[in-house]
Amino acid sequence: MTARSHEADDLGFFGPYGGAYVPETVVPALAELDAAFTQAKADPAYAEELGTLLRDYVGRPTPLYRADRLAAAVGLGAVYLKREDLNHTGAHKINNTIGQCLLAKRMGKQRVIAETGAGQHGVATATAAALMGLECAVFMGTEDIRRQSLNVYKMKLLGAEVIPVDDGTGTLADAVTAAMRHWVERVNDTFYVLGSALGPHPYPTIVRDLQRIIGDESIDQFDAREVPMPDAVVACVGGGSNAIGTFYPFLVRVPDDQRPRLYGAEAAGKGIDTRFTGASIALGKPGVMHGFMSYLLQDERGNPLEAYSISAGLDYPGIGPEHAYLHDEGLVTYLPVTDDEALVAFEQLCRTEGIIPAIESSHALALLPRIAEELGPDAVVMVTVSGRGDKDVDIVREAGIGE
Ligand SMILES: *Cc1c(COP(=O)(O)O)cnc(C)c1O
Repeated sequence: MTARSHEADDLGFFGPYGGAYVPETVVPALAELDAAFTQAKADPAYAEELGTLLRDYVGRPTPLYRADRLAAAVGLGAVYLKREDLNHTGAHKINNTIGQCLLAKRMGKQRVIAETGAGQHGVATATAAALMGLECAVFMGTEDIRRQSLNVYKMKLLGAEVIPVDDGTGTLADAVTAAMRHWVERVNDTFYVLGSALGPHPYPTIVRDLQRIIGDESIDQFDAREVPMPDAVVACVGGGSNAIGTFYPFLVRVPDDQRPRLYGAEAAGKGIDTRFTGASIALGKPGVMHGFMSYLLQDERGNPLEAYSISAGLDYPGIGPEHAYLHDEGLVTYLPVTDDEALVAFEQLCRTEGIIPAIESSHALALLPRIAEELGPDAVVMVTVSGRGDKDVDIVREAGIGE
């Protein structure tokens, strides 16, 4: 078998995907970032500081919990939940923002900016910035500001400035564009904290390396219990940070013949036969947006389409470049999950285990019955529960669940 590289090449490409399609003015800033991260990765002091914060502030390691009542309900031998919902601020995003804000400090930047859609990455960035005494500005579309007033208020409580973006549809894609434009102007004193495993190189690699703690811990936890590796591992995919953080250690640390099957759940929205969907792998075509090449939902002329999902964290029209590559190579199976399927899985986890999951994470849980059908009733499956569902109870109630 030929050796496979799981690293981006020098220009940031995973196969044909990734790269850095950015204006000339940003090129030196990305090169500076790449050099700083490479240096930080080799510096035990950075690892030490990051490790201490992840343990004492975030609450890691997160539990690997064996969910027996859920396993019985979906017809599997065992289900293990990797509990990222138990992190400080309630999701995996803090793993990334703490790592990037530490990097900003090392680089001597006093100020960080971020983009946010539903507000989760904005809150996680504002949290890390407050912790480290950094100035923080978060770009957010005006429509999203209206829909997500609680997260806007949280960011302000945490000392961040929320900058409204009125262009386009006033949603995430417009906020990303505005944040990048602003970064070009303030690159001397400003660090851009990117929220998922996408954007121009080296961001997809930085975010993956900061999120791989999810998969690394899981493998160590299976080893420590002396139970065999699971037969399958599942995570939901928006931009792809919790999923690549889960999968990557299984790809590089576990030999081919022992590796679990890897499944990514992408948002089908109202269905992949409708216009209301976020399934970029199932329906997208390769194209360039926000500085990188990947599968994108686009019209015949190549303009990005607006994505839809009941979960605000999964309604991005693209997917991180490493996932596009893993899909083409057949190393990960990406399956679309509808809003309705996610809602069923959401309620099922509440009732069987007393855990209210994020609606994003519910997309991953929704694959369990399908995997049971494929692998049989003795199969053992691990699912990353990327976040807790407190933020989603209004949406779920509106959908008529539990009443
Ligand atoms: C933001 C978010 C996601 C989607 O982001 P990824 O980068 O794909 O991980 C998934 N789950 C939760 C709880 C989130 O907040």
